[in-house]
Amino acid sequence: MTEETPTKVNMEKIVSLCQRRGFIFPSSEIYGGLSSCWDYGPLGVELKRNVKETWWRAVVQERDDVIGLDASILMHPRTWAASGHLEGFADPLVECKGCHLRWRSDELEGDRCPSCGGELTEPRLFNLMFKTFMGPVEEEASVVYLRPETAQGMFVNFQNVVNTTRKRLPFGIAQIGKAFRNEITTGNFIFRSREFEQMEIEFFVKPGSDEEWFNYWLEERLNWYVKLGIKKENLRLREHTKEELAHYARKCFDIDYLFPMGWSELEGIANRGDFDLVQHAKYSGKSMDYFDDETKEHFIPYIIEPSAGVDRSVLACLCDAYDEEPDKDEIRVLLHLHPNLAPIKVAVLPLSRREPLVKAAKEIYADLRQHWMISYDDAQSIGRRYRRQDEIGTPFCVTVDFQSLEDNQVTIRERDSMNQIRIPAAVLKDTLQAKLEGEDLFVLPPGGQIWLEEKKGA
Ligand code: ATP
Repeated sequence: MTEETPTKVNMEKIVSLCQRRGFIFPSSEIYGGLSSCWDYGPLGVELKRNVKETWWRAVVQERDDVIGLDASILMHPRTWAASGHLEGFADPLVECKGCHLRWRSDELEGDRCPSCGGELTEPRLFNLMFKTFMGPVEEEASVVYLRPETAQGMFVNFQNVVNTTRKRLPFGIAQIGKAFRNEITTGNFIFRSREFEQMEIEFFVKPGSDEEWFNYWLEERLNWYVKLGIKKENLRLREHTKEELAHYARKCFDIDYLFPMGWSELEGIANRGDFDLVQHAKYSGKSMDYFDDETKEHFIPYIIEPSAGVDRSVLACLCDAYDEEPDKDEIRVLLHLHPNLAPIKVAVLPLSRREPLVKAAKEIYADLRQHWMISYDDAQSIGRRYRRQDEIGTPFCVTVDFQSLEDNQVTIRERDSMNQIRIPAAVLKDTLQAKLEGEDLFVLPPGGQIWLEEKKGA
């Protein structure tokens, strides 16, 4: 895909870390796995939840022009006739094993990819949508599809939202949910799977203001990834060429990330014009008109769609955060995850398993877990325990030692710098809160002190 692939991180290392530490497992692994389906383990589910929560916060909670929706996965089959999915994906398809462009085999002249000359997959009469039956009878009339995108649930609810929320243009509907595509070629771990999650916004605007809103969302969405801690140099915008543009799109940009396999799409931002609402009006017979109270005009809004993949965002965050540092004779593997994304925010580590220490540490653990995901670890040396937390991206460790029993102070150790401070246990929660929100570690609460280098446990 590109010559500029990153060096320190590769997909094998990410897959191995994910399996070893319980981020992501192959689906139904005991049966040999199910191709291109993945299960998020105890740490993965937290990371994924954090990605979704951060997105929801940015696009719904902190805005007054976007509201949320959770539409069902199964929709009336006419939806897919209106959207073009039924027709668009029912051809005999072949896909290039090299550049992944798909072609209708009945329109091809040779047996190689017309774009790059690569080898092609066997042709299949192929609809990208998973088909199933609703109710007890397996007949054509009861066919329904697992949605291949969440978008259509928002288009068909446009009037419901206008009528119940009294939202006026411009406004958006946001949704996070599962989508299913029977992809011809899969691979690159969770980058392309057959069951995945999307985070989509359908932003309805007055025709004529669409260009402006398109540019607005392009910038807004790019900044979201930067705020998540993804390095700017690993992100780029790429405009779709005329040939690439989907049938519904007037304009489209991808936000690409420099994955280990090269620059690949993280999110697509499209100006869909009035295509979707016009189609649904036609197929349902229901009006999709919007009445503008100010100008007294009726019109069909245009739609700007930022469509992101949850799983691709998770993968980009993992790849971007992955780091290795020399550590005496070994290598320290760490994830520089943004604190908002880290599956575990704080690990509580008693210096030894001896009773008075364990009791004090467990009390701290019980208190902190009311606020964040916390882990408690008393197995093996303190150095090893720090490394275990570094590898899963835990921003802070709190160490409870014998002196803590006397002076009621504990040590906070920070993941990236390995710096340590010692503070009164009574202000631990407030101090951690400030640090997790980005305060410098060395801003000390009353009674706190910088913990000297030679006193570090590891
Ligand atoms: P691609 O060209 O990589 O197949 P696409 O252009 O078909 O992707 P869209 O239809 O624009 O993808 O879907 C919006 C987003 O949903 C993508 O940017 C991606 O993040 C996510 N997505 C799409 N297909 C998959 C998949 N098979 N696995 C994981 N995520 C996906």
